[in-house]
Order: sequence, then structure tokens, then C-alpha cells
Amino acid sequence: MTKPRFTFSSLKGIPDVLPPETILWNKIESAACEVFGSCGYDEIRTPVMEPSELFLRSIGESSDIVAKEMYSFTDKGGRGISLRPEGTAGVVRAYVEHNLPVRPAPQKFFYRGPMFRYERPQKGRQRQFHQIGAECFGASHPGMDAELVMMLMAFLEKAGISGLSLEMNSIGCPECRAAFKERLRAYFGPHLPELCPDCNRRFEQNPLRILDCKVERCIEIGADAPLISESLCPECRRHFDSVLALLTAMKTPYAVNPRMVRGLDYYTRTVFEVKSGRLGAQNAVAAGGRYDLLVSEFGGPETPALGFAAGMERLAKLLAEETLFKDLMEKTGGQPEVFIAPLGDAAGAAALVSAGLMRSRGIRVEIGWDGSLKSKLRRADKMGAKLVVIIGEDELKSGMYKWKDLKSGESGEIGAAEIPGLLSR
Ligand code: ATP
Ligand code: MG
Repeated sequence: MTKPRFTFSSLKGIPDVLPPETILWNKIESAACEVFGSCGYDEIRTPVMEPSELFLRSIGESSDIVAKEMYSFTDKGGRGISLRPEGTAGVVRAYVEHNLPVRPAPQKFFYRGPMFRYERPQKGRQRQFHQIGAECFGASHPGMDAELVMMLMAFLEKAGISGLSLEMNSIGCPECRAAFKERLRAYFGPHLPELCPDCNRRFEQNPLRILDCKVERCIEIGADAPLISESLCPECRRHFDSVLALLTAMKTPYAVNPRMVRGLDYYTRTVFEVKSGRLGAQNAVAAGGRYDLLVSEFGGPETPALGFAAGMERLAKLLAEETLFKDLMEKTGGQPEVFIAPLGDAAGAAALVSAGLMRSRGIRVEIGWDGSLKSKLRRADKMGAKLVVIIGEDELKSGMYKWKDLKSGESGEIGAAEIPGLLSR
């Protein structure tokens, strides 16, 4: 072994995703594409970097994301840029920038890709993670809230993930929230010395955020805080009741969590979270809500909107534990169905022809280029190949290739075109 000139490892909290885990990711993404597509959502791809201001103005300066977690830098032209910490801001920007509000409403999009937050890496929490999410523009009816939540649950079911629970709440509109914020300040005011430094900042900027704090003492104090449901205006109340009535009618199980406020400033009215009992502390797999004011704040026409995002890493972890996953890995765990061992240059061309034919029929074929026949066969066995086909000089002349089924031990000779038939015996 030569001494390495350099050694590298990936950045803390920014891991690789390797096969076979990527197979799970593909499965989750195809379930999403299928379910979202059937609900009229088309994919949008927005940049991973945006002007920092975009996130500041949407997610909000009082949020943890903007206050502590953004990957921000100044580019060579002196522009303030951030890696996206979430997907909604970019999609709303694109929606306004490309004048999509002129298209017939509702406009529906889904997205997937990496997000970046400078958090403390731990189980279920990374600095680069991936989300798959959906956004719907131009629907104010509570029916759309229910439909969106049901689409999310249908996607998770289609992906094969079970044991999830849905929590719903309404955080009202700016009017009901103003009254609620005052009630919260009145409640938390006397507790300020006991609250964490972040919550002291939140008290001034946005006391709702205190309810989202993960510090134990803050959670304890927050347990007796006033509930937003007691401050909802009649319209917000009616909207929320309609959403819940539709979910009930559709037999979608949910629980109202009157303490859920969500960590982003742009939400109005309906908010929701999907949790798993199997993930430990980081138990949220998806979350979303309505954001009726964001499009107009970004210079678009007044456009009610709503969306959600699901965390791919947490979904993949759950799926890995499902029995279904084990079947999947047995079928597609990287084992070649056919391993071709060519001996000599002329056999190499024949191996390529034969592999090409099989691959065009969707068969997974490996050609063993390097090493002696013995080492090729050893490799085929290690890789878990089902069938080995040997092409040497004699085989080239006769057109009949030697084969061996590594599982059953059967062997024989066969013409190239007949090889696929051996797999379906
Ligand atoms: P949490 O309460 O776990 O911090 P959040 O409210 O910050 O979540 P959202 O911004 O709503 O999360 O993002 C939606 C989903 O994205 C989460 O439910 C989670 O599955 C995933 N997610 C968020 N942050 C991370 C992270 N740092 N690492 C891995 N997944 C994440
Ligand atoms: Mg978070």
C-alpha cells in the first residue's frame, strides 16, 4: 500500500447516502411522485442557494432557523447568500417571479432535494438533510387543507411506512394571533428568569416560539400557557372545524395538539405534523400548514397557499425497519442476476453483446473482467449472483455457453439468446 497523500472525510452532519439505502430513497420518491401526481402536483426544482434575505423575510428572524441555523456567506460579488434551510421560500419566490399566479388556480408543485441547517448533529438530525414537499397556491377552502393532509398520509402509506400519527392545530390569522401573543406575554412575563436565553429573546420577538422550545424547563412552564384555540377569531375557528370535520368524515385518524405552533413565521391557520413512535426524540417525519400571506408579502397577488415537507432520512430509517424492506433488499440488494465470465479478448465482445441483450430486458448483469477464471467465479459467488455464464474460446466457436446456477448447483450449456429463460425456471 502506498502512503496516501491526502485523507478526507465528509463534513460533520453532512453524510453520504450509500446503496442499499438509496434504493429505499428511490422507493419513497417514486411513491411520492405517483401519489402527488395523481393529486395534480408537478415537480418544481429550485436552486439550493438563494439570497439570504428571502429566508429572513419568510421564515422569520425570530425562528431558530434564521437566528441560528443558516449557512450564510458573502459571494465574490458581495451578495448575501444562504443555502436553503427549507423548500417553501424558494418555491414561493419562483411562483411570483415567473408570474405563475396568472395560470389557472390552484397551482400545485412538489419538490425534493437537500436542505441545510447548522444544527447540532445527532440521531435524526443532520446539517444536510433531504426533504420531499408539496405546495399548493390559490385555494382558500378548508377542503384543500384536508385534501393536502390526506395526500401526505396516502404518500406515506404508499411508501410502506406505518405506525404514524397525525397532529392538527390552527394558529389563526394575524388578528387572532396578536391577541394570543399578548396573552402569552402576560403568562410568560413572570417566568422570564426561569426561561432559557433563547426564550427570553423569543418573548420580545415572537412569544409563540416559546411554545416550540425544546429545553425541558421551558416545556414545563409552557404546559400551562394559554391555548391558541381560545383566541381564534370566528372565521379561523370555522375554517379549522371544517378541516377537522372533513378528516373525520374521511376516517383519517388525527389528534388535535393545541400546543403545536411550528417553527416558521409564515404559517397561518392550519398547521400539522406527522410523528412516529419509533424515532426517539427526533420523531417528526413531516410537517406543514397554511401560509395565506406569504405570496403577497413576496410581491405577488393575494394568494392563499399551503404545503408540507417530509424528512427523507427519517422516512428511510422507518422504512428500513419495515418487513417489506427486507423483501425489497433480497430482490434488489445489489446482487447480479447473471454474472458473465469472459476468457480472452474475443470473449469480451461476446460478453458485451450478451449482457446488452439481457440488460435491455431489465436483467441485472455483471461482467467479470478482471482476474483468472477461478477468481471470477469466486467473485460471482461473493456478489450473490444467481447464474454464472462462462464464455471461453470453445464456447465462442460453438456458440454454446457454459452456465451454472449458483443457488441450485445445476449447470449445462446454452445458446446466448436462451440465457434469460434460465432465470425464470
Ligand atoms: P424538528 O422539530 O425535528 O427540528 P422542524 O420543525 O425543524 O423539525 P421542519 O422545518 O418542519 O422541521 O421540516 C420538516 C421535516 O424535515 C421534519 O419533520 C423532519 O423530518 C425533517 N428535518 C428537519 N430538520 C432536520 C434535520 N436537521 N435533520 C434531518 N431531518 C430534518
Ligand atoms: Mg428544527
